[in-house]
Amino acid sequence: MTLSIIVPCYNEEAVLHETNARLTDVIKRMETKALIDHGRIMYVNDGSADRTWQIVEELAQADQHVGGLCLAHNVGHQQALWAGLEWAAAHSDAAISIDADLQDDVEAIPQMVELWLHGADVVYGVRRERKTDTWFKRTTAQGFYRLMRMMGSEVVYNHADFRLMSQRALQALMAYPERNLFLRGMVAQLGFNTASVYYDRAERFAGESKYPLTKMLGFALDGITSFSVRPLQYITYLGAVFMLISICAIVYGIVSYVEGRTIAGWTSQLVSIWFIGGAILLACGIIGEYVGKIYTEVKRRPRYFIQKTAGHELS
Ligand code: UDP
Ligand code: MG
Repeated sequence: MTLSIIVPCYNEEAVLHETNARLTDVIKRMETKALIDHGRIMYVNDGSADRTWQIVEELAQADQHVGGLCLAHNVGHQQALWAGLEWAAAHSDAAISIDADLQDDVEAIPQMVELWLHGADVVYGVRRERKTDTWFKRTTAQGFYRLMRMMGSEVVYNHADFRLMSQRALQALMAYPERNLFLRGMVAQLGFNTASVYYDRAERFAGESKYPLTKMLGFALDGITSFSVRPLQYITYLGAVFMLISICAIVYGIVSYVEGRTIAGWTSQLVSIWFIGGAILLACGIIGEYVGKIYTEVKRRPRYFIQKTAGHELS
């Protein structure tokens, strides 16, 4: 049984040495205990501008457990992870994805592997609580999960992208042709046998978050629009409600006219113009989001290009 650990890295020079030390330690322990035959760590360098790739090359030189894929350009976390998973689907019996910043507990990995050996195809790493996150991140993240559920996409609460996938789950995932990736939603749709491992999430070991608020919002929007057409339905409902209101308004207007009391009504006109204008813009925006999605999907552009590789069996 071979296991690959996929680590997407974007400007992670500050954490790589420590991450690598901890991951190789876990892999070697699992090999000694004969939990796995062979373990490998694959770093996917997502177009970093710092020394990330040099460090990966050095690490791969020094230890045959380590390898790397260097993407030609920054394609974003989800696409970089996809590149690694595609590699893993072709080269190993199972893959674990984990962020480079050591926020996820590497000690959960052996438990994940044991659950996999007992027949699980997908093992979710679920964080127990969010004590180390800032108040802001915690609240926005919780709001995000709630919104996702409301909009009808299945997501595992408090699970991000720390998970194990078996060979057949990986193959199933690779059959998804879409370019707008929201991996945690896609994996939740696969089915198969699933299990969860609980861990405490730590603070970023070093460096800064590569997910500022704007990226987080974009990601949340992607998660909803890639999985659900409910926002479009809501626009229809909203339209129906406005229709009803306007019928009432027309009746009211005619009655007032007949009774001979016409109102100056400047305020109510102004308010309704602004409100209806806003509602129309919002509706156009939501439809635009979906049109944009269709645009990127029909172009069928390649997800990524691999520029270089590092590692004993690879180069
Ligand atoms: N990442 C990436 N490409 C990007 C942005 C981020 O590969 O364009 C990687 C990053 O190196 C890290 C993971 O995605 O391994 C998650 O990023 P980060 O820890 O900054 O996100 P946060 O935990 O703050 O949400
Ligand atoms: Mg992080």
